[in-house]
Amino acid sequence: MSTPYRAPLQDIRFVLEHVAPLAALRQQPGYAHADDETVVALLEEAGRFSEDAVAPTNRDGDTDPARLVDGEVVLPASFGKVYQQYVAAGWGALAHPAEFGGGAFPLVVANAVQEMLASANLSWSLCPLLTQSAVHLLARAGSDEQQKTYLPNLVSGAWTATMAMTEPHAGSDVGAVTTRARPEPDGTYRLTGQKIFITYGEHQLTDNIVHLVLARLPDAPPGTGGLSLFLVPKLLVDGDGAPHERNDVGAVSLEHKLGIHGSPTCVLALGEGGDGAVGFMVGEPNTGMRHMFTMMNHARLAIGVQGVAIAERAYQAALAYARERRQGRRPGGAPDEQSAIIAHPDVRRMLLMQKACIEAMRCVCYANAHALDLAHGCPDPTVRGEQQKIADLLTPLSKAWCTDLGVELTSLAVQVHGGMGYIEETGVAQLYRDARITPIYEGTNGIQALDLIGRKLRYDDGAFVRRFLAEMRSEIERPPDVLASVRGTVLDGLTALERCTEWMLTREASSDDVAAGASPYLRMFGTLVGAWLLARSAARAHGLGAAGTYDTEFLHAKVAAAGFFATHLVPQVHALAASVTAGAEQLTHVEAW
Ligand SMILES: Cc1cc2nc3c(=O)[nH]c(=O)nc-3n(C[C@H](O)[C@H](O)[C@H](O)COP(=O)(O)OP(=O)(O)OC[C@H]3O[C@@H](n4cnc5c(N)ncnc54)[C@H](O)[C@@H]3O)c2cc1C
Repeated sequence: MSTPYRAPLQDIRFVLEHVAPLAALRQQPGYAHADDETVVALLEEAGRFSEDAVAPTNRDGDTDPARLVDGEVVLPASFGKVYQQYVAAGWGALAHPAEFGGGAFPLVVANAVQEMLASANLSWSLCPLLTQSAVHLLARAGSDEQQKTYLPNLVSGAWTATMAMTEPHAGSDVGAVTTRARPEPDGTYRLTGQKIFITYGEHQLTDNIVHLVLARLPDAPPGTGGLSLFLVPKLLVDGDGAPHERNDVGAVSLEHKLGIHGSPTCVLALGEGGDGAVGFMVGEPNTGMRHMFTMMNHARLAIGVQGVAIAERAYQAALAYARERRQGRRPGGAPDEQSAIIAHPDVRRMLLMQKACIEAMRCVCYANAHALDLAHGCPDPTVRGEQQKIADLLTPLSKAWCTDLGVELTSLAVQVHGGMGYIEETGVAQLYRDARITPIYEGTNGIQALDLIGRKLRYDDGAFVRRFLAEMRSEIERPPDVLASVRGTVLDGLTALERCTEWMLTREASSDDVAAGASPYLRMFGTLVGAWLLARSAARAHGLGAAGTYDTEFLHAKVAAAGFFATHLVPQVHALAASVTAGAEQLTHVEAW
């Protein structure tokens, strides 16, 4: 009875043409091949794959969860089949460098594909996601030999990768990691310790798994400055790069979770058998955290995209249900009419909340990827530097704002279904459970907010964020304005954000007052960036008129979604502003909990 997933190709294409435009990327060397025709064909194919091959496996992982049998992870059979199709089609290679067998497409295109895969099956899509983040890391920090040995297989998806940081006492506090790495005379290392919560830490989808492990050398200083990064393959490879001997690393148990049951979340033991797991250092000693941040930032944006993806799939189900389900009489309906629930204002409000927020979230994530593409691909170092700062600023917003909303919107989709939303057979209950992890992993959303106020706002002593906000203001103010009736609302909201930003910047980043306001501040910032990009989307939709690719109703809906967002979401920032600037005092009053 669950609603089949339909890839939102028109919406994705509109953002790639008008909000985070591919045309701007094509002017950079290296992206010229990403022409509209090629990208549209590619996205259509990815959409078909997501709809027809991946989406039907979503339920399998929920009803037949990953299991550990004799040290091996058993996944639903459909996961393996679809993974082979994914590799054969070359989806994993899309945005990776051509020298390692990649397609060298912009990240924003790969993110669009990732969105569809995550909508189709969040649990399954985590496996390719982490591999892509690992490729990103190794392409930058790996030695020539490591790149030659591991990258082609990771790029193609023939092997997968993990991010192995978390330990029982070292979650948000990564600096508390205690896994040990002992140097050997041959230049390798022997690792001993235990990691927890490692996604796809063990499975049989591929011949090999490459673990990227944070560990500590014997003489390392305490904290994150004493962490080094190691590549620890499940199977050691021979001189020809072929896997041949089992390394001493493997899953000792799997977690039982609220959602994403198809994704194996492993307790990973290193060196349980005695002498330690063989590892190879990536980069220099004690620089592990810096390199891991390359992987984490890539993954944080991808997790933000998961927020968009899961909300999109839940919205599609809610919309279909609201059109079908008949209850009560709509305002002004005939006395004997039993209306479809979509005719009730409160249901329309819930649906529009989902639609408008998803569009805003998609704009934020794609703009984030677009900035990263320019930061890597533009020959002008000044542009590269500015775009990197924009990407850095947007990353905590993509990750935290989009995943918090992903959970809220998925909950709204359950609500639209009424009691049937709480019943498993509609599929939305699973989406709600699956969504709940996204604000937690890859750095909790509280940690994202601290990153925003503690680091990103402070770039150039605040000059960068002031410049960014001024550019938002000037675009919103620029005529012609199809949203004239709500422009004042958005500008008032922006004024509140500017005021809160100054409040943050004039206080010590480490003060309790600033930390207490971090999460509501991030929410404000995300809401206003969403409103700004939706204003751009509406202006472009209005400018296109009826001519060309998009039909009038689609374009009209873009303007309507932006208007709804400005009217219903933006005013919330004033309440948030009060919370941002309240300081920490109220948090200290409760002594008896
Ligand atoms: C399903 C799943 C998959 C995962 N996959 C991986 C993986 O592949 N690789 C990996 O390495 N890890 C993985 N993790 C671990 C995940 O990244 C951590 O759970 C997460 O970073 C939070 O750490 P923690 O669970 O120890 O929570 P804690 O750090 O104990 O946090 C608990 C609460 O305290 C808050 N908090 C903690 N410190 C601070 C602070 N300094 N300031 C303000 N608030 C704070 C947090 O925001 C949170 O609300 C996974 C976890 C799960 C559940």
